[in-house]
Amino acid sequence: MVDKKLSGQTALVTGANSGIGEGVAISLGEAGANVVVNYVSKPETAQAVVDKIKSFGSKAIALQADVSNEEQVISMFKQAIKEFGTIDILVNNAGLQKDAKFDEMTLSQWNIVMNVNLTGQFLCAREAIKEFMKRGPVPERSQALGKIICMSSVHELIPWAGHVNYASSKGAIRMFMQSLAQEYGDRKIRVNSICPGAIQTPINTDAWATPEALNSLMSLIPYNRIGQPSDIGKLAVFLASDDSDYITGASIFIDGGMTVFEGFATGG
Ligand code: NAD
Repeated sequence: MVDKKLSGQTALVTGANSGIGEGVAISLGEAGANVVVNYVSKPETAQAVVDKIKSFGSKAIALQADVSNEEQVISMFKQAIKEFGTIDILVNNAGLQKDAKFDEMTLSQWNIVMNVNLTGQFLCAREAIKEFMKRGPVPERSQALGKIICMSSVHELIPWAGHVNYASSKGAIRMFMQSLAQEYGDRKIRVNSICPGAIQTPINTDAWATPEALNSLMSLIPYNRIGQPSDIGKLAVFLASDDSDYITGASIFIDGGMTVFEGFATGG
């Protein structure tokens, strides 16, 4: 029997119809939260996530919005608040890669990654924080006024040749998250990042789709397995709940040990 520790709270998860966002939305729903399943395309996959969450007895709706579009983000928050009364938890998960050798990278490849991975988190966090402050504290639901979880990456720490736009966006998320935690700590808004290593999702199919690729990936992971969206979902429930009430401004790495730098195990 899963502990319904998020019962009565509402979570909005961006990019929740695939991979990590889907895993997080399902875990939050299983823990009793109402969930807004944001998607930008493929409504049928968003509906499948909604149906799964409803099967736990929690409420869920799918809302379409491009997180890099200000009007669409504002309208999504309005609809979500109309439906559930407020938002207690934001999971800024939507993200993408547009990989290229740096000297061949187009401005469009740079801009789309920044617009979704960084500006998208700004637009959603701003609307969430406005709502937390407008609503005020509800101590019987949570000790915090609100919780924001930023989906960062091990690449906020590990440089990544061939992916300079992506690594730059995640490096920026570290300062975004910590500066927000500093600015709103006294309002009891907690802001933290999840930094996944290699998680088996469509964003990185090339890294796990063949036995050779998976084998090569294992040379980077001391714990010797690829991560699953449910691994991230469990951490998101913890960070969204009062169990983590004294954690804010933290980047939590969940990577099977990728950031202990396996390459140095035999001397470096
Ligand atoms: P994914 O491709 O399965 O999911 C990305 C989601 O973001 C999709 O639902 C997609 O539709 C959505 N999205 C993209 N652009 C959007 C936009 N403009 N508006 C709204 N939604 C949009 O990939 P994933 O692995 O689940 O990635 C989720 C997050 O986790 C990303 O921020 C990614 O950088 C991060 N991450 C993933 C890994 C990994 O190994 N999979 C590792 C570290 C960090």
